[in-house]
Amino acid sequence: MAKEDKRGKAPENVLGIDLGGTKILAALVNSEGQIIGEAKVKTKAEKGPEAVIERIAETAREALKQAGLGWAEVKGVGIGVPGPMNPETGVIYHPPNLPGWDEVALGPLLSKALDVPVCLENDVNLGTLGEHTFGAGRGTRDMVGIFVGTGVGGGLILDGKLRSGFRHAAAEVGHMIVLADGPVCGCGKRGCLESVASRTAIDRDLRLGIAAGRESMIADLIKSDAPPTSGALAEAWSKGDPLVTEVMTRAQWYLGLHTASIVNMIDPEMIVFGGGVIEAMGKEFLGPIRVTARQYYIQRAGAEKVQIVPAKLGDYAGVLGAAVLARQRF
Ligand SMILES: [Zn+2]
Repeated sequence: MAKEDKRGKAPENVLGIDLGGTKILAALVNSEGQIIGEAKVKTKAEKGPEAVIERIAETAREALKQAGLGWAEVKGVGIGVPGPMNPETGVIYHPPNLPGWDEVALGPLLSKALDVPVCLENDVNLGTLGEHTFGAGRGTRDMVGIFVGTGVGGGLILDGKLRSGFRHAAAEVGHMIVLADGPVCGCGKRGCLESVASRTAIDRDLRLGIAAGRESMIADLIKSDAPPTSGALAEAWSKGDPLVTEVMTRAQWYLGLHTASIVNMIDPEMIVFGGGVIEAMGKEFLGPIRVTARQYYIQRAGAEKVQIVPAKLGDYAGVLGAAVLARQRF
């Protein structure tokens, strides 16, 4: 139950938190869905769970301070976590980007630290929920989110609700196989979408191209230890650099094939593409994905009505989704 304030009225604000491997973002959201206070800090994951939980709590307090509100005016907290978790127990398991977090009862520990109810969910699921409630997917009934960054993640909305599956492991679109016996994926299997269309896969293919003697305007960047920035990659792509174009075209082809498989399975109204790669390349990047996808829809009638669109909320999709989750739960 939400606490009641001095006037006996239940509070309407909720706090959304996005816990990432590199940063923690917190946003206090009012009943109209507006962000009225926010704070961001570096995660410093290497310091271990206890220190990170304290940093999450500090970030939450700072967001409240920005809004000039106290905890009595907050209904509850929703937090998006980067990895497997059990939303019922609040325990997260071996998140790949948080070293040393083998099994951490984040929900109960954070709830104790802040003295408010806390619920949690996978961060990409919450990004999808954020886009569905406040972003590109507003008003749709069935929608799929695909986020292409270092890895590839996804989220599924059916009948207007976030679906996380029987074991809270649904919508792992990045690990659906698109190329049998293809390249090794971050998960250890071969040929997942992530192994052919993520930023990691794009960087690998660019390196292979340069090693094979191909020329490129970003050859020097590829040869250096640090991969090219998204900005440099986007520039080379917009200028028609042949190697970058070839690598991007291959990634788009697999994203298109995969989109068709999703459409053949679910037939959603909309697929929302977000994540670092899509943000950097811009909405033109989706054109070839749309063309490929439509070629593989089993039902061609009305194909143009299935919208394939860019996400709108950027970094805020996750915190806003976390706030929506808290509002639904508490
Ligand atoms: Zn995989």
